[in-house]
Amino acid sequence: MRPCRRFEQALIVLAEGGEAPEAAAHLDQCEGCTRRLAEYRHLLGEGGIARVTQNAPAEWIARAAAIFPEARRAAVLRHSLSQVGARLRDTDTLQIAYEVDGVVLRVQYARLGTGWQITGRVPDLSWTVQHRGASVPLDPEGGFQIDVRETADTGFDLVLPSGRVAIPGVAEALGEPV
Ligand SMILES: [Zn+2]
Repeated sequence: MRPCRRFEQALIVLAEGGEAPEAAAHLDQCEGCTRRLAEYRHLLGEGGIARVTQNAPAEWIARAAAIFPEARRAAVLRHSLSQVGARLRDTDTLQIAYEVDGVVLRVQYARLGTGWQITGRVPDLSWTVQHRGASVPLDPEGGFQIDVRETADTGFDLVLPSGRVAIPGVAEALGEPV
């Protein structure tokens, strides 16, 4: 079900410039691990991490492992296409309501060239939004906007005090092929 976790150490090896052929092959078919590798590389490039690796590898491993949490998946409560019987490919805008820790998060998707503009508002300013491992800025009301170039890239994460919650890509959320 979750083959990715067994590549966790190998991704760190790759990030440090080592070789891990099996993990490297897995990257070709896994956007999530590709993103994690980029995050690990980013951590390594921040400076100081190399020293941490030498002096306290456990600390670095723990920090890297924090990037690899078991994200819970937000449940789709409803979406606007179900009311009109439309398919994703035939539509330019839609809304999906997700349930996140008992709160409804409404996310709007509008076509933007080949991709989508995703907008929403987190109900709690302690939440953060991450896309491809990078934090998405929130306005003072918690509003956020993510522009992506492909339908396959429409998934993002919420980081709550209670942990990480994955908002699936729009096609996955609708149960349609990308
Ligand atoms: Zn993976």
